This record gives sequence, C-alpha cells and structure tokens, in this order.
Amino acid sequence: ARQFFVGGNFKLNPSTKEQSFALAEGLNNAQLDPATEEVVIAPPSLYLLPLKEKLGNGVQLAAQNAYFKVSGAFTGEISPTQLVDAGIPYVILGHSERRTLFHETSEIVAQKTRVALDTSLKVILCIGETLEQREAGKTAEVNEAQLKAAVAVLKEEDWSKIVVAYEPVWAIGTGKVATSAQAQETHAEIRSYLSKAVSPAVAAATRIIYGGSVTSANSKELSTQPDVDGFLVGGASLKPEFVNIINAKK
Ligand code: 13P
Repeated sequence: ARQFFVGGNFKLNPSTKEQSFALAEGLNNAQLDPATEEVVIAPPSLYLLPLKEKLGNGVQLAAQNAYFKVSGAFTGEISPTQLVDAGIPYVILGHSERRTLFHETSEIVAQKTRVALDTSLKVILCIGETLEQREAGKTAEVNEAQLKAAVAVLKEEDWSKIVVAYEPVWAIGTGKVATSAQAQETHAEIRSYLSKAVSPAVAAATRIIYGGSVTSANSKELSTQPDVDGFLVGGASLKPEFVNIINAKK
C-alpha cells in the first residue's frame, strides 16, 4: 500500500522567521501519525535550517527548488548537495510557478531531478495542465510530455525516491479545486503512463498526490479516490486547517 503523503508548499510565505516558527509549532502540537502519513513542509529556503531545529512530530522538510549543478558560479541558486549537508531530505521540482514564471522546461526539470537523486535528495515532481490545455482535451498528453522528460533520465529504481504531484495550473491558488472525479481520472492516466513508460511495479508503488486549492473542506472526498495518494497544499498549509488535510483519510 502506498503511504499517504501530504506536503505543505509555503511558497514565498510567511514574511518573518517567527511566523514560520509558529507554523512549525502548530504541527508539533498536532495529532499526527507518522506511521500512517508522511508529512513534509517546504518553507522558503532561508527558513529551512532554523526550522529544522524547531520541527518535530515526524514532519520533514523540503526545499522548493534546487539547481542542476552542485557548486560553482551560479549566483542565487540552491545546491542539492548543500541541501543534503543541511539534512533536508526532499526537494520540490517543476512546480508550475517555476515552469511559468522562471521558464523551466521539462528538460531542465528532468535534469534537476537527475542531479537531486544523484545527491540522495528525494523529489516531489510537479506536473499539470493549463485550463486551455484541459479544454482542448490535451490533459493526458501534457502530463505525459512533462513526465516523459524525467522518464528519459531516470532508472527504474529512482522512482522509489519520487512523489509525483499532479497540480492542474487552473486549480493552483484559484479556489477552483478539481472535482474528485477529475482528479481520479487524471491520476489514473498518470499511473497508466508510468506503467507503460517505466514498469507496472513502479506505477503501483509511486505516490501520485493532488495539488490545487486543496482545503480542509474538499480534502476528505478527494482522499477517498483510489489513485489520490495525498496532497500538495499551498495556501491552506499556512493555516490551522492544514492539520485536517493531513488527517483527511481518518
Ligand atoms: P494552492 O493550494 O494555494 O492552490 O497551491 C497549490 C500549490 O501550488 C502547491 O504546490
């Protein structure tokens, strides 16, 4: 069985270190069950190290990005090996905001994924279609194309270190969540692509989580879908309701 996985992507929030401590404190005091669900938060990189000192309760940390080089003349970038040295186990790669605002192609995301895995980071690999692409009936095609670049540079055993986050762009930060039927259909398509492109075993074992306007209110129904293995949460991960989302399956 795939362990339920819930990530909190803080994006460029909150505005102070103290506020990030308060969020960690909220999770430390929450009723969580690390045996049942894996919980990972991704604060801004500047807060990773101080939060590592504060965070307990089995909650792990992720960086929101990392570069495909580990050192050198790359001003402003985050090194995967430095993340490993800092004791950060996960990195989010290919988030739609990185793809759109920072012009990361699927090939760049694949290259980053390869290097992250080589340095022993685990990867939350984000994919998803725009509204225009969904309305043109291209959802499966777009998600496959985004995954295909990663498939091309990964070996079968690499997939045990990857969580795929399906985040339809039209649902991110819009309040317009995918229906549980839409999420289930797309997750099943992604799983079937992994089965074909990698292997049935990898497809069966890989967690595919949903992101885009997940809230306490909609997480319960989404979590009942057989191919929805958890969530990647933006806005609601900054609120007390994040704990309800983590516990959605209970
Ligand atoms: P929201 O939950 O704010 O829609 O953001 C989703 C997201 O992008 C998580 O990575």
